[in-house]
Amino acid sequence: MKKLYKGIHKFQGSYFKKEKVFFKRLSKKQTPEVLFITCSDSRIDPNLVTQSSPGELFIVRNVGNIIPPYDAIKDKNSVAAAIEFAVLMLKVTDIIVCGHSNCGAMEALYKDERELTNMPHLKDWLKLAAPVKDIVLKYYSMIQSEARQRITEEENVLCQLHNIQTYPFVQEALNAGVLHLHGWYYNIGTGRIYYYNSSEDVFELISEQSMKGDK
Ligand SMILES: [Zn+2]
Repeated sequence: MKKLYKGIHKFQGSYFKKEKVFFKRLSKKQTPEVLFITCSDSRIDPNLVTQSSPGELFIVRNVGNIIPPYDAIKDKNSVAAAIEFAVLMLKVTDIIVCGHSNCGAMEALYKDERELTNMPHLKDWLKLAAPVKDIVLKYYSMIQSEARQRITEEENVLCQLHNIQTYPFVQEALNAGVLHLHGWYYNIGTGRIYYYNSSEDVFELISEQSMKGDK
């Protein structure tokens, strides 16, 4: 904890001081254009990897960057609440679902359920990603475990992109052309980020070249 306390002092004494005007403006309201949904994994920093500032990304994080399908939402669900707020109130124009390499949640899908008996909430939460495992076992049965991990992480992004489209107000915004969905995959070891190219059905490296013409 000491390190964090020191960090607070450092932030207030240097970064905040230099950016006082920015934070003053920010204190009035938030106007993010992007809803960024990613894993709780400590190695992911959405603002760092996109070099964006406070106020630019409305962020939802949970174990495995999972979005419960609309009909699976139980009485209290923080993911659904955040999506409602981002789409209906903040009127974000883009939603990014970002998976990542070495994701413990995706690894856990293949573990014996008994290993999770002392973590009933986690076990229950991961059941939402069970269709991902089913897809991988069905269509990629011959692959080695290392490749299987990456394919599972990528298929999970696609599954969650599918799930978010089950929300009626998301579907409405998509149909109206005021909202766009993006599937990303972040490789922690290389710093590279890939986006899902739906017309080719592949994840492609995001480079300055590939993003030409995008705003
Ligand atoms: Zn993860």
